[in-house]
Amino acid sequence: MARIYNFSAGPAVLPVEALEAARDEMLDYNGSGMSVMEMSHRGKVYAAIHEEAKQNIRDLMGLTDDYEVIFVQGGASLQFAMIPMNFLGEGKVADYVDSGNWGAQAIKQARLIGQVNIVADCNKDIPTRMPREGECKWTPGAAYAHITSNETISGAQWKTLPKTEAPLVADMSSDILSRPFDIKDFAMVYAGAQKNLGTAGMALVVIRKDFAETGSKALPTMLKYSTFIEKDSLYNTPPCFSIYMLMQTTRWLKKFGLENIYKQNVEKAAKLYAAIDASAFYRGTAVKEFRSDMNVTFRLPTEELEATFCAEAKKVGLEGLKGHRSVGGIRASIYNAFPPAGVDALVAFMADFERKFG
Ligand SMILES: *Cc1c(COP(=O)(O)O)cnc(C)c1O
Repeated sequence: MARIYNFSAGPAVLPVEALEAARDEMLDYNGSGMSVMEMSHRGKVYAAIHEEAKQNIRDLMGLTDDYEVIFVQGGASLQFAMIPMNFLGEGKVADYVDSGNWGAQAIKQARLIGQVNIVADCNKDIPTRMPREGECKWTPGAAYAHITSNETISGAQWKTLPKTEAPLVADMSSDILSRPFDIKDFAMVYAGAQKNLGTAGMALVVIRKDFAETGSKALPTMLKYSTFIEKDSLYNTPPCFSIYMLMQTTRWLKKFGLENIYKQNVEKAAKLYAAIDASAFYRGTAVKEFRSDMNVTFRLPTEELEATFCAEAKKVGLEGLKGHRSVGGIRASIYNAFPPAGVDALVAFMADFERKFG
């Protein structure tokens, strides 16, 4: 078995321990004689998986009883629509930070539903960044305020998450549980599961109950947060296997420890940024103070060299380094499960590549 160093932005590398557990339990989960994919979502065996998945999130985030953990199909992208459908009624306005591609995607969906106010726009800025202290002009009485904690494509990350008067909602798809944060500052956080949590197609949503209760009642059942809360994410057949994988990765993360993973994430990113800064050949894409610990973006002198860089890297087992098609460049995604040895390998490769092509 040869596993590559997988720098993909998402779906992305998962903890080997979680994959091994899934492999070992594939044909016979816990003595049930069947796989998780084959059993009733109403049965006792599945119920224990569902409970542990939720409990792991509760433990890792330190959730109090006023927050609910729900699992919603449709990935983070459906959340872009569900949030305004539930909370952006007539006569209301929602604050959005346009911090990059994902922030803009959320805004696009919200505008289909209601009135949006852009409180800060740094989407087009190069080098890429997040809003600075005091830059966001929050609207008094806004229905909610929406931010993207980490812009996966540009590689910019909020280092100090904002506090807002309006209920704060965060798309944490690409940095959820990569660092400690205070859930009390948020009415809702959500994340597509395929970066730090498990498999694609599902979103983890952590939502304060009193906020969820303010949601529109005039929506189809499957589009209301209240349905997921009342039915414990079991109104219809949930994405059982995705929830199972989330349970495995969060079980791994609990063992590792959130503080420890944060420390490791910072160290991994710092090594890569140090390699970029030590050379005039490589140029970081994001403003230093907003550099992401999850998605390290940089450029080479020419696009041709960038293509050669990715091709040569692939030959030595470093894959998924090509930047997003919309911006080009190089992107090394180094989520929780990405091993530190892979970062060392990339740093060594970068020095080698510069010697040959610089
Ligand atoms: C990947 C990503 C999304 C989209 O997630 P899907 O599950 O594909 O809908 C949204 N926001 C951010 C920040 C992302 O990184």
